[in-house]
Amino acid sequence: MEKDIFCKIIDGEVPCYKLYEDNSVLAFLDISQVTKGHALVISKNHYDNFLSVPKEEMHKVMDVAQMIGQIAIKFLGAQGVNILTNCYEAAGQTVNHFHVHVIPRYANGDGFILTMKNNAEGLNLPAIAEVFKDQLKK
Ligand code: AMP
Repeated sequence: MEKDIFCKIIDGEVPCYKLYEDNSVLAFLDISQVTKGHALVISKNHYDNFLSVPKEEMHKVMDVAQMIGQIAIKFLGAQGVNILTNCYEAAGQTVNHFHVHVIPRYANGDGFILTMKNNAEGLNLPAIAEVFKDQLKK
């Protein structure tokens, strides 16, 4: 099976601007730099996305994402940070290897657009909440 681009980066076959590495996590600059300092934090083991990564590895990735966000605020002059992870094509995932985006935010018009419209009208919120609650019961 063809390796994905992030597995190639982990194996040193594709270069990157490395920010951090340990036994389970690698962080590097996103090649697209949606905003200055846009970083990716990935698990070294291959999982397709956030929904399939074991908790312990997910937590390690999120720890590093948190540190990178803090650094962007303190040392890059960011005024905010978006931490996001896309799961599946419908959500914009283009690389099928678990990764978390850390996107420093500077001001209006900094290059990153995230629109969250209010589409609640007509939805049965109690019924939707029940689906989640039922499944979350231990
Ligand atoms: P997603 O759309 O959430 O799957 O994000 C994949 C991200 O990987 C995109 O933001 C790409 O710019 C980034 N990307 C793809 N190839 C590379 C690469 N060789 N080095 C760094 N970032 C990359």
